[in-house]
Amino acid sequence: MLAVSKTFGPDAVRQAQAAGQRCFGENYVQEGVEKILALREPGVASMPTQWHCIGPLQSNKTRPVATHFDWVQSVDRLKIAERLSEQRPEALAPLQVCLQVNVDGGLTKSGVTPVELPALAEAVSRLPNLRLRGLMCIPEPAPTFEAQRAVFLQARALFDQLNADGFALDTLSMGMSDDLEAAVSAGSTMVRVGRAVFGDRPLKLTSVA
Ligand SMILES: *Cc1c(COP(=O)(O)O)cnc(C)c1O
Repeated sequence: MLAVSKTFGPDAVRQAQAAGQRCFGENYVQEGVEKILALREPGVASMPTQWHCIGPLQSNKTRPVATHFDWVQSVDRLKIAERLSEQRPEALAPLQVCLQVNVDGGLTKSGVTPVELPALAEAVSRLPNLRLRGLMCIPEPAPTFEAQRAVFLQARALFDQLNADGFALDTLSMGMSDDLEAAVSAGSTMVRVGRAVFGDRPLKLTSVA
């Protein structure tokens, strides 16, 4: 489980760490970087923690992501992946990457189309400082378990097809607070859970300073 800590401050992350949680997801680059740094302050006992960037990425925001995060799940075009690879500091392990795929054709959403996915996976897998781990999707809310599951099964089929084509993907990131059961039943390997862990998000961004 990825605990999505967006809008919650470092104290909420520390509480989850104390309960054994090790992987955290952030949507907004600046908020995420501030939180990562705050939790690394000298003197603050820090747990081995993995940080995943799960929000939409613009090319002018790739450098702080490449510098501070361990994973990026929202890669949906080659230009972003190339920048992340170029900007990943030499001293760090490769950035772990999932391709965000727009499975249900939601018009307003980011994500590579299923048709364009194989070519993007091929190109990203050749970049030196990235390691392609799998797929991520955020389907539109659907009214029933079966409707949710049907969309997740499409993502699962794309994942299986890439592996049949020779990719060694191990991560299928799908399912959030409202649809995680359907995602798990369709083969999710990672659910990204915010509200069901931390409670409802405050309307205003919590300061992390
Ligand atoms: C906010 C967010 C989540 C968590 O959503 P909840 O409904 O709070 O569980 C998961 N994935 C992404 C990409 C998000 O932006």
